[in-house]
Amino acid sequence: MFGRGGMKKSDNTKYYEILGVPKSASQDDLKKAYRKAAIKNHPDKGGDPEKFKELAQAYEVLSDPEKREIYDQYGEDALKEGMGGGGAGGVDPFDIFSSFFGGGGFGGGGSSRGRRQRRGEDVVHPLKVSLDDLYNGTSKKLSLSRNVLCSKCKGKGSKSGASMKCPGCQGSGMKVTIRQLGPSMIQQMQHPCNECKGTGETITDKDRCPGCKGEKVVQEKKVLEVVVEKGMQNGQKITFPGEADEAPDTVTGDIVFVLQQKDHSKFKRKGDDLFIEHTLSLTEALCGFQFVLTHLDNRQLLIKSNPGEVIKPDSFKAINDEGMPMYQRPFMKGKLYIHFTVEFPDSLSLEQVKALETVLPPKPASTMTDMELDECEETTLHDVNIEEEMRRKQHQAREAYDEDDEDMHGGGHRVQCAQQ
Ligand SMILES: [Zn+2]
Ligand SMILES: [Zn+2]
Repeated sequence: MFGRGGMKKSDNTKYYEILGVPKSASQDDLKKAYRKAAIKNHPDKGGDPEKFKELAQAYEVLSDPEKREIYDQYGEDALKEGMGGGGAGGVDPFDIFSSFFGGGGFGGGGSSRGRRQRRGEDVVHPLKVSLDDLYNGTSKKLSLSRNVLCSKCKGKGSKSGASMKCPGCQGSGMKVTIRQLGPSMIQQMQHPCNECKGTGETITDKDRCPGCKGEKVVQEKKVLEVVVEKGMQNGQKITFPGEADEAPDTVTGDIVFVLQQKDHSKFKRKGDDLFIEHTLSLTEALCGFQFVLTHLDNRQLLIKSNPGEVIKPDSFKAINDEGMPMYQRPFMKGKLYIHFTVEFPDSLSLEQVKALETVLPPKPASTMTDMELDECEETTLHDVNIEEEMRRKQHQAREAYDEDDEDMHGGGHRVQCAQQ
């Protein structure tokens, strides 16, 4: 059967490696492995055509029990030499792919050899997640309805599997309309045929599939379990390959979930780090503080100052390894930064001032004598809202400039003279 008498044993593990399955893989394992890899590597999706071909070759051989046995025993060469056209050599990867997904081939009567399939659109859903979800990881079950090829007719739309050329477009799927735009001008417009929805085929009423009423697809409810892993980022995509709407002669697109991180009332996230705000009283800032922080996984962290340490207003402290877990390395974590605000008292009594002066570092000594000071002018300090005042001043400056501008148009001389 194999042409040559003594068959040398050639490589018989490559096909398993290509599909990423063990030698003991079941038919079901093979199917799953091929399906996943083929969708990922489909050239229409920007995959490597060589890799796509290899996958088809490997699957074609291993999915056939007879060929698989020969391959396991004698390796790839045995198939090439012995099986001729039916062997691993002459495989059309697109045929394998479409026969796999259509269950019986999409190609109608003729062969689909060499024909590239349309790629269906990806369906993108935003998925809102809390910071707690991204810290701890979670999974969400989402129910979606999608079009799937009708199983009764395998996506043909007819009971017999036959279809007729659409009389509306003679099977081209397109119609041309001509519009008269003027006495000697016409416009030709091409658009998908409305009678066959651009497919070029129609099905007789009698032959119409009862399952899908000739539509070729039916609606199906599907529950997808979206696994949100620890440390995933805002905007990160979770893809379900080939789970979007199915359509005849089409490589099914992906369902893509895009994570949208909701704001948290306490924690802010920057990459793998977390930030919190904490306000201290002046006494806490000077004499020490401690507080309990409930983390995103409900652990209670005791946060306290070192003895004698003074916390300055608008300063930061960090706790290592209490930030966000890193994506796919969840045992590593970023930092938790604490931003301190210090609340000062609005005023003090004279007694308080005296008491404080006894413990605080002494004031800088005056370099002037009392007599010299007597000769200085007295001033008064007023409260100001500096932002408000600066805004008002800027506004005034702009108005003045605008007026200047008008003056210049009216009589430019004044400005010119002023500059000289
Ligand atoms: Zn038509
Ligand atoms: Zn049907």
